[in-house]
Amino acid sequence: MDRGARGGATDWGTALVAWFCEAQRDLPWRHTADPYRVWVSEIMLQQTRVETVLPYYERFMTHYPTVEALAAAPIERVLKDWEGLGYYSRARHLHAAAVTLTKERRAFPTTVEELRTLPGVGDYTAAAIYSIAFNRPAPAVDGNVLRVVTRLYASEDDIAKEATKKKVAEEIVTHVPTDHASDFTQGLMELGALVCTPKHPDCERCPMQTHCAAFGQGRTAELPFKTKPHAPKQEQIEIAVIVDENGHVLMHRRPEQGLLKGLWEYPSTEALQEIGVVGAMKNWFSYDHVFTHRRWHVQVCRADFCRMRPLNENWKYHAVDDMKDIMIAGAFKKIREALEQDR
Ligand code: SF4
Repeated sequence: MDRGARGGATDWGTALVAWFCEAQRDLPWRHTADPYRVWVSEIMLQQTRVETVLPYYERFMTHYPTVEALAAAPIERVLKDWEGLGYYSRARHLHAAAVTLTKERRAFPTTVEELRTLPGVGDYTAAAIYSIAFNRPAPAVDGNVLRVVTRLYASEDDIAKEATKKKVAEEIVTHVPTDHASDFTQGLMELGALVCTPKHPDCERCPMQTHCAAFGQGRTAELPFKTKPHAPKQEQIEIAVIVDENGHVLMHRRPEQGLLKGLWEYPSTEALQEIGVVGAMKNWFSYDHVFTHRRWHVQVCRADFCRMRPLNENWKYHAVDDMKDIMIAGAFKKIREALEQDR
């Protein structure tokens, strides 16, 4: 990487590890080098805050303490335990990988290449598991690490570009202190989460300050450089809450392909066409739900009596009390809450 006035040439890796050993947060996945546990924690932490992950991780480890225990559990139960954490394909991938490893009596992968073959494990996660669980150098480069390292070098490279990621990966492995690969990887993550944060980096208490070119040049506010991502796609969704004479609410299981696959939803007016619903709808309330690349504006309508064709297995009336036990997509949680309050 290009080196700024201070960055790069000095041994920032040692300073980083020393700081991490002193200042790290006490997190349950840091009490173990069991690659299974490290794998689960890394998957849960994808796109998700540490505070959110904590209770899910503890429960997951109680229910599925080993690869074999996870493989033996029905996927419905695993998805239920995942409910609220979002990005459900992560849970499906964990379960599928556990089933394959157990069926083929394979030991847990011990190289980056083998880890990369697990479903749901990309370059970042493979490198993170390898360096944290096996304490061997591997460059785990995510958005946090890109931000920290490009500031450290006062680099104007666009962090949205793959080429920048590659450069950063090549650079950081040259700074891993011997026998401290795990602390180094976690230290970079921790520094990005606690100190070198996106908007207000806390340079005054940063262990990298004397090594940091952006700080030396007074450019911490303008770096990193990133081209703007496309705005999320806006979609209007109309949802019908249809209640039968017992007060049960009609729900629809989403297809096994596509967004929110296989989860239960309150039916969209589009889905209702499948069963030929006839009845008067009244607007109830509306809300926005934001996914990574799209934003739904959801209009919720109510109907207390409707005619429709006979229902197949993807349609079912559920009592409001039972809704907490079924896997409802996070985008519809507001509707469940409104129904619970409305009882
Ligand atoms: Fe980030 Fe500031 Fe530390 Fe540089 S000195 S690494 S900009 S927190």
